Parts: sequence; structure tokens; C-alpha cells
Amino acid sequence: MPAPVIGVLALQGDVREHLTALTGAGAQARPVRRSAELDAVDGLIIPGGESTTISKLVDIFELRGPIDKRISAGMPVYGSCAGMIMLAAEVLDGRPDQRGFDGIAMTVRRNAFGRQVDSFEAPVQITGIDGGPLHAVFIRAPWVERVGADVEILGTVAEGPATGRVVAVRQGNLLATSFHPELTGDLRLHAHFVDMVRTAT
Ligand code: GLN
Repeated sequence: MPAPVIGVLALQGDVREHLTALTGAGAQARPVRRSAELDAVDGLIIPGGESTTISKLVDIFELRGPIDKRISAGMPVYGSCAGMIMLAAEVLDGRPDQRGFDGIAMTVRRNAFGRQVDSFEAPVQITGIDGGPLHAVFIRAPWVERVGADVEILGTVAEGPATGRVVAVRQGNLLATSFHPELTGDLRLHAHFVDMVRTAT
């Protein structure tokens, strides 16, 4: 079976790291900036960065409608950190003008861990990923405060001041994490997403 083609929304954020991780996990990875590039991918990653900036650029690059359309048609999307915020139906502590996609029925709090620690690392066990907990890196990360009935909680923080906070969820073909697996060299989460894309196509 040919490797699935997976795009990384390349408007702002750590695009290159996701492209490298996807390639390592067996996908054909491509940056996506235009709707013609979106048409050519089987799945999409929305990277970490700054959700208010990504929201603005999505409109400037006229990608909001095309991405919403692909999401409702079932395209798998993985959002990490700012990408998680872009996939949330409701954002607390956001800017009034920021807008996400028609994504996951969840409420996330932006910069949530910031009140305790700006950036930190902690082990997170993810349902469906074998081989022990992931070493999760959080950078001014959101957490998930509420989820709808169709949302599966995949991971919570296992130690430290934020113990028990929900940091990984899935709803249908949409996956989101508060943390940045692309920064650790551990490819298991990307491989999991590549499998989701393979199954969906
Ligand atoms: N705090 C950022 C935001 O609100 C997210 C940080 C990140 O992606 N590392 O978008």
C-alpha cells in the first residue's frame, strides 16, 4: 500500500518538525498553504504555534472553508497544542476574534498550565499507543476542561502539579494533544495518526 499523503498546515508554528516526524513515521509529508495543496492530502496536522495567529492566517490564506469542508467529509486531522485549540468547539481565555474549525466537541482553556508552570514535561499514557507513556512536552499549553459525549479521552497528565488534567482526546477522525510529540524524537503518536489516515482512506 503506498504511504498516505499527510499535510502540515504551514502558516505558522513548528511545521518542519512535524514534516520530519511524519516522514519518519512512514507518511509522504507535505506543507499545506493553499487550498489546492489541501486537496492533495489524505490527512492534516495543525501544528503548535500561536492559535490567534494561525486563526488569522487561515482567513488570509482562504483556508477556513476548505478545511471545514474536508473535516466534515471525514479527513483525519491531528492538532497539537495551538492545533488542539484550532480543533476545539469552545476556547476559554482566547482572543475574542480567534476562531477554530468545525472540530471536536470540547472546551479547552488556552495557556492553562501557565498559572502553575509555563512549560514542563511529564509522562502521559495514551490509550491505543503501546510501549509505555509518552514523554510529553508542554509549552504554554491548553488543557481540556469539558468534552462532549462522542469525545474519547486518550490521556491525562500522570505526575506533577497538573496531575489528572486531560491532554489528549479523539472524536471520530479528529485527534488532539496539548503537548508536542514532534519535539521528542518519539514517533509513536505520529505513527498512530498515520494509521488513522491509512484506515480512513
Ligand atoms: N499558547 C499558544 C496558543 O494559544 C499555544 C502554544 C503552543 O502551541 N505551543 O495558541
